[in-house]
Amino acid sequence: MKYISTRGRAPSLTFEEAMLSGLARDGGLYVPEMIPQMSKDDIRALHGLPYEEVAFRVMRPFIGDGFTDEVFADLIAKAYAGFGHVARAPLVQLAPGHFLLELFHGPTLAFKDFAMQLIGQLFEEALTRRGQRVTIVGATSGDTGSAAIEAFRGLDSVDVFILYPHGRVSEVQRRQMTTPVESNVHAVAMDGHFDDCQARLKDMFNDFDFRDGVRLAGVNSINWARVLAQVVYYFSSAVSLGAPDRKVSFTVPTGNFGDIFAGYIAKKMGLPIDRLVVATNQNDILHRCLTTGDYKTDEVTPSISPSMDIQVSSNFERALFDAYGRDGNAVGQLMDELKTGGFNVSQGALQALRETFDSGRVSEGETLATIRAAHDTMGELLCPHSAVGVRVAEAQRDPKVPMITLATAHPAKFPDAVEKASGIRPPLPERMADLYERPERVTRSKNDLVALQTLIKERIPS
Ligand SMILES: *Cc1c(COP(=O)(O)O)cnc(C)c1O
Repeated sequence: MKYISTRGRAPSLTFEEAMLSGLARDGGLYVPEMIPQMSKDDIRALHGLPYEEVAFRVMRPFIGDGFTDEVFADLIAKAYAGFGHVARAPLVQLAPGHFLLELFHGPTLAFKDFAMQLIGQLFEEALTRRGQRVTIVGATSGDTGSAAIEAFRGLDSVDVFILYPHGRVSEVQRRQMTTPVESNVHAVAMDGHFDDCQARLKDMFNDFDFRDGVRLAGVNSINWARVLAQVVYYFSSAVSLGAPDRKVSFTVPTGNFGDIFAGYIAKKMGLPIDRLVVATNQNDILHRCLTTGDYKTDEVTPSISPSMDIQVSSNFERALFDAYGRDGNAVGQLMDELKTGGFNVSQGALQALRETFDSGRVSEGETLATIRAAHDTMGELLCPHSAVGVRVAEAQRDPKVPMITLATAHPAKFPDAVEKASGIRPPLPERMADLYERPERVTRSKNDLVALQTLIKERIPS
């Protein structure tokens, strides 16, 4: 299995190489050259299997021969052993025909643990085998950073630096990043918004001297291995509702488009998904784009669902690549236009996107009202991101097709918003109840490439 860049001007790589490098050298994102297929029988055979076994069968064809079956199965087992629910991704019913996929039982209480815990295991295995050490730098609006730190803390082959926007992450998110004591963990609070953090990260990757000098590796949602790990729960949940013999739809609270793009891959592999619905908060570039074709960046408006507060949605590039018939030059051109504010998706490409994706936008007031209503009528306490999803799903779902809404974080990760909406302050699960007492360790930085590069060079072993 080979991986190619969405901009068509970088060498194709193996799974392991694509995973270790993150972003392609032409600025593009890696995608599989072809999508492995699962037949109806293959999908039916997933019924009743443990999550780890489903994960093995769904991901194995993408991995290539860098990892043996035995090693890969072992890494999957280790990745999910620390989850607080034996089903890993349990499905609960909200209403007739509407289900909630709880993706928040991992160590940092958000769906990003599904990908990050596995990627930590895959990195450590691959780097130990190669005798290498890498510097992981990530940008986060909150959940990616804590998930990355949790996955890489204490590993021998990795230093991890996480840039987060100072003052713009929740207290739980911040503490999850600043309280690990391991010396290979570095939380950096940067001036600006998440998009600024993401832009500086991209600058570091595009500075090849720096990139090679510190052996930079990325684990942001652009990393293909993360997308792949997220494909699994689309299969496990759809099968439990009758796939492949019944269609299902999904609504996904969306920011960087990684999670929903995993659903798109599941569909391309043969899972009968009817609609994939993008749910956004007031930072609605994706909703605007899918309704009008205009992909125009705007100011980021901070919201109560901060993990979706973005204006540039990195993984959307992968969907555009397919919508433009896998024309890397066309995608490269769009991304150049994006530097000066935005672009228009062509009619043909927009039509292709709409064959799979719908979208909806939710205001802050509607988000709070949905948290309140879901608690009162369904007995379910939702985090604000999941509430955005539930709201859009209710408005858009086809009564004939079961809808699965992804619950992307635990309500206790966003206690202020949940309390404001419902009057209930959700407690942290017992296994992390002392988070508020642990001492914090963080470095402040300007929104400045050179300052960040200097900081990283000083901190890593030479
Ligand atoms: C990251 C995140 C999202 C957005 O997911 P993308 O893959 O970036 O679209 C939604 N909700 C929560 C809680 C998140 O952490």
